Amino acid sequence: MLRQVELVERVLSYDPHADEDLLNRAYVFTIKAHGSQTRASGDPYFSHPIEVAGILTELKLDMASIITALLHDTIEDTVATKEEIEEIFGQEIAVLVDGVTKLSQLELQSDRTKQAENFSKLLLAMSNDIRVLLVKLADRLHNMRTLHFIKKPEKRKRIATETMEIYAPLAERIGIQSFRDELEDLAFVELNNEARKSILRRLEYLRAEGEDLVDRIVNKLKDDLHEAGLQAEVSGREKRPYSIWRKMEQKNVTFEQLSDIIAFRVVVSNVEQCYHVLGNLHAKYSMVPGRFKDYISTPKRNNYQSIHTTIIGPERQRIEVQIRTREMHETNEFGVAAHWQYKQQIGEKVQDGQQYRWLRELLEILEEASDPDEFLEHTKLNMYQDQVFCFSPKGDLISLPAGSTPVDFAYAVHTRVGDTCVGSKVNGRLAPLRTILKNGDQVEILRSKNQTPSPTWESFVVSGKARSAIRRFIRQQQRDQYIELGKSIAEKSFRMDGKPFTEKALAPVLKVWDLENIEDLYYSLGDGTHTGRQLLEVIFPGEKSKDADENVVPIHRKKQTGKHKHEHAVPIRGLIPGMAMHFAGCCHPLPGDRIVGIVMTGRGVTIHTIDCDTLEQYSEVPERWLDVSWDTDQQNETLQVGRIGIVMANEPGRFQV
Ligand code: MN
Repeated sequence: MLRQVELVERVLSYDPHADEDLLNRAYVFTIKAHGSQTRASGDPYFSHPIEVAGILTELKLDMASIITALLHDTIEDTVATKEEIEEIFGQEIAVLVDGVTKLSQLELQSDRTKQAENFSKLLLAMSNDIRVLLVKLADRLHNMRTLHFIKKPEKRKRIATETMEIYAPLAERIGIQSFRDELEDLAFVELNNEARKSILRRLEYLRAEGEDLVDRIVNKLKDDLHEAGLQAEVSGREKRPYSIWRKMEQKNVTFEQLSDIIAFRVVVSNVEQCYHVLGNLHAKYSMVPGRFKDYISTPKRNNYQSIHTTIIGPERQRIEVQIRTREMHETNEFGVAAHWQYKQQIGEKVQDGQQYRWLRELLEILEEASDPDEFLEHTKLNMYQDQVFCFSPKGDLISLPAGSTPVDFAYAVHTRVGDTCVGSKVNGRLAPLRTILKNGDQVEILRSKNQTPSPTWESFVVSGKARSAIRRFIRQQQRDQYIELGKSIAEKSFRMDGKPFTEKALAPVLKVWDLENIEDLYYSLGDGTHTGRQLLEVIFPGEKSKDADENVVPIHRKKQTGKHKHEHAVPIRGLIPGMAMHFAGCCHPLPGDRIVGIVMTGRGVTIHTIDCDTLEQYSEVPERWLDVSWDTDQQNETLQVGRIGIVMANEPGRFQV
């Protein structure tokens, strides 16, 4: 374990202005806070945060990051609070520690989650300060180094899988190659130690065979470059077992077929020299076609820069050579941290140069500080801000557009879940369906099989999936209602004409009106495109319709037996806005009122009270009248708009209640 003075000295070595006293206090604070807690290794728990801080000193991170590393488990695992930390260490550090704590809590929740891709996006979305992520990665790295102490094999396997799927790619993404390499190799030990061992055995065999082959090649390359007047550092190293394994898997080749088990690296001082070295090597040795890649002129997405080429080398072997500048090398290994360091050294302002382009692309810096010391502090991660990631009760991680609500969540799970949702619990508490979800929320959807999508949901959902499902449902409902209506209208028309109604009789109409099927025909009657009278004229051409005389009296004025009425009446339930039926604004029918429907051309049916004056306008068009009645079986909980008329004398004291 790193001793207190060692840690402080390390930080001071690259940051002479660091607050020594504050570092000391953080070191002591974590020891006191974790007290007698122990790790699986039997070591005192506080050795862990101290080692994590140590790892970050290798990246030469700022003092706030180092202190955050020391304190990173105190809020979660000890009685220490964010307020206490803020009081002693200030707001900046308190916010950082809180950020790391939130990521750790997510980790616990994600135990059952399989969606590594979404999970790493969530981590990125929640680390709004790059230092939070760096501390988290160092935390994971130390936990991987001590993974073998954990007794339960399932737990080891889970942690290793998570590292391979989430943390190693994250490290690569922010450009810290050294973290990625170590994380992958430690996970490889746990996940496939047999494969790893066999690769190590073969490497050993090759080494024995080739004796000092690597050294001979390195020396020969050095001489070649020296002769050409190029100052270059040349090194050769075996590739890591995991990267060899990955190549074998990806390319589906055997170990013997791999050409680049050993990678040679040439480091020079500027870009021009990189191309000189390349030209020199290609002039001297045959280049293997299809293996040349220039990541200097076209850097990788994480800003990895280097030239890769494979040649038949001095020992008549295929070797891969990577050519880069010193600065590129540092950046490739240490990513964002190297930038900070580099800037520190040369005291340079952050400029809009090529150098930082990757950072903007990848991390979207919100602000760029002019003072190099503020560089990390202002390197805000602003990724996936247009998305929000929420957990299902089973731990599935669901990605939604920002601003999503539980209804969006429900539709993202399954259309059926969306269609039947009645309420939601967010993080265990009942929450309205229009609640806006936050990253990491756990969402439980309460369902009822009687529920149907409400058109009001459309006003607050943001996901296309929810919106289109709600619209589709409303359209379908509307269609069903129009069809039901249309059928009633057809039946009524036959009845009024004294003709027996059969669906068969309607068949000839389809052709005349150019409709596909009977449902379409009902629909066209229901929405008022065609009238019942037009229907009869097609079926019984030339016959004078009876409504002209006796049926001209609207149906509601005729004596109807209760039974007759119910047989043909269209039941009215809780009306949904935008559907086939509407309540008239003139008379505001209330449940229990005697009512009648008027078919409006193309707009469905308007329900009036039977004594509404407006009905006079329709006395000449009895085919538009529709017998309707309240559906008394259905519990009607929808709000109804009514009107109350009050007549009173204008006297003093009347308005007192
Ligand atoms: Mn930890």
